[in-house]
Amino acid sequence: MQFTFLLSTIILTLISLVISKKNFYQILGVDKSASDKEIKSAYRQLTLKYHPDKNQGDEEAHDKFIEIGEAYEVLSDKQKRKNYDQFGDPNGQPQNQQFDFGDMFGQFFGGAGGHGGRRQQVPKGSDTSTDIHLSLKDFYRGKLVSFDVIMQNKCDTCEATGSKDKKTHQCEKCHGSGQITVQHQLAPGFSQQIRMVCDSCQGQGKKITNPCSTCKGSGVTRGQRHYDIHLEPGQKRDSFRKLEGEGDQSPNWIAGDLIINFREKFDESWGYRRIQDNLYRTEVITLNESLNGGWERRIQFFGEDEDSEIDHEIILKRAKGEVIIDGQIEIQKGKGMPILNDHDEEDKFGDLFIEYKVLIPGGVESTKKNEIKKDEL
Ligand SMILES: [Zn+2]
Ligand SMILES: [Zn+2]
Repeated sequence: MQFTFLLSTIILTLISLVISKKNFYQILGVDKSASDKEIKSAYRQLTLKYHPDKNQGDEEAHDKFIEIGEAYEVLSDKQKRKNYDQFGDPNGQPQNQQFDFGDMFGQFFGGAGGHGGRRQQVPKGSDTSTDIHLSLKDFYRGKLVSFDVIMQNKCDTCEATGSKDKKTHQCEKCHGSGQITVQHQLAPGFSQQIRMVCDSCQGQGKKITNPCSTCKGSGVTRGQRHYDIHLEPGQKRDSFRKLEGEGDQSPNWIAGDLIINFREKFDESWGYRRIQDNLYRTEVITLNESLNGGWERRIQFFGEDEDSEIDHEIILKRAKGEVIIDGQIEIQKGKGMPILNDHDEEDKFGDLFIEYKVLIPGGVESTKKNEIKKDEL
């Protein structure tokens, strides 16, 4: 049975090798389905952040900068990206190491006839999800989101064995199987055999003489992990990004996924409400403005300044004598949210709807109530 343990260790090592192989999509913080435009934009934002000029003497930032360049070189090239997606190698199918994982599993576990033939599977760990709160401006402009999460990681000190000398010993009670058989007497003369998880090794099948001092023998530690994710302009509120294989790690399972939910900070929406790709806003005007016109208002929008591609303000105005009635709606075409489009290079936008509320002296209460209702939508 020591043999089975040895094999599962080999398999786990192989699996972690495959997983830890650089994932170019994850390096750029984009989805596998990302468009060329998104890839380029993510690359630009990341190189700005990790540029050597900005991070002098920071070796980690330097490595990251190189890694980003490698990822971009592959993903920005149609053929290389296709190869990478298909074979995991930008140069195409590897010549010498064509092996099939399914086969390998079959040979090691299912086909081990001489050893009982019991099929043993490495389970997948559970997924972890985390929320990131962003302003409407971030959803509008897109953003490089950098964050840290505390996750369970394999212990580096003991290479996830939990043992100080990295050695484990077969459990004597269960002989490495992790299970024991007990006789349960039902009545005099009648007994039943029950298989139970070994209480000596808690089903691990192995034991440690000297526990690793870093992880206290568990083989895992909790620690911070850093991620950069590219939020696309127009990303949907409450949508998510799945980081494959970035869930909690353990020597006993294949890590699940880390799921990042993009939430909206509703108190930072500057009076705009987003419904799908459109924006809505209630503008309160005085009775005088409503009846006589002749006014102009500039309202903050999501651009950085006058020079930015995105408007930094929207203008609402009426000529002298132009009347607005209570509840009138004005539509500003193309001033809504950016529409996410995978393959179209041209930017598309939703619309901005302005609903006018006329402030009638004495009628403030009813106007207020209406507004609150709208905000709850
Ligand atoms: Zn350890
Ligand atoms: Zn045991």
